[in-house]
Amino acid sequence: MIQLKGISKHYPAGFGKTYVLRNINLGINEGEFVSIMGPSGSGKSTLLHILGLLEEPSEGEYLFLDEKVDKLTEKKRTELHRHRIGFVFQAYHLIDELTVYENIETPLLYKGTSSSERKSRVAELLDRFNMVAKKDLFPSQLSGGQQQLVGIARAIVHEPKIIFADEPTGNLHSEQAKEIMELFRELNQKDKVSIVQVTHSEANAEYGNRVIRLKDGWVSE
Ligand code: ADP
Ligand code: ADP
Repeated sequence: MIQLKGISKHYPAGFGKTYVLRNINLGINEGEFVSIMGPSGSGKSTLLHILGLLEEPSEGEYLFLDEKVDKLTEKKRTELHRHRIGFVFQAYHLIDELTVYENIETPLLYKGTSSSERKSRVAELLDRFNMVAKKDLFPSQLSGGQQQLVGIARAIVHEPKIIFADEPTGNLHSEQAKEIMELFRELNQKDKVSIVQVTHSEANAEYGNRVIRLKDGWVSE
């Protein structure tokens, strides 16, 4: 579902170019659960942002769901974000002024889903994540682990084909982290959602089927 050929990313800085990613070649198949690992500054977030269509590569070719990414119109890119892709963030990125229910519902509003379908879809996820009693609370009233559950519910409410997660348990205690990783495993195995996570944790990587190791912008698998 994903193919990178000779992908590089550089920034102009002083004399010459600073390469963040160099000549990355990799494929990710539908149904995979992949972990991107490597030291701080090795390019993990940049790679995840390129994969998630948030940033453009400087060189090379990226095929996402058989589409050449550099040929995508802004409209098509937005459509892929609204229909095919879900994001999960380390710091959750929930909207503080919205309730749990409203946070989860947001992607469906962007997608233009009907009100009755929004209701049933959000209700189903609240039930599945044992958060029915919390639906009218605000993010600040939840633990970190609960906030990340909301973050994941929001990431999957529109039934994406792939989730990109940037250090999804980076702010959590190990018990909460385990719960979140078990949920990812279930989404991958039962719901057939592909997952790409950036993680520093070998324990988290165990949940995936493959590790991509980055070092100074190179893949050192
Ligand atoms: P990681 O996620 O592995 O910590 P990043 O992808 O965040 O690595 O960053 C890799 C390198 O790219 C770092 O050295 C960082 O300073 C640099 N970098 C990231 N974004 C920019 C930018 N917008 N301009 C210049 N350098 C950047
Ligand atoms: P960190 O790993 O430092 O906590 P975050 O997970 O907060 O970083 O955010 C990672 C990146 O994703 C940021 O550079 C931010 O610009 C971007 N980002 C945050 N929210 C969204 C969003 N809703 N849609 C697209 N990109 C986002």
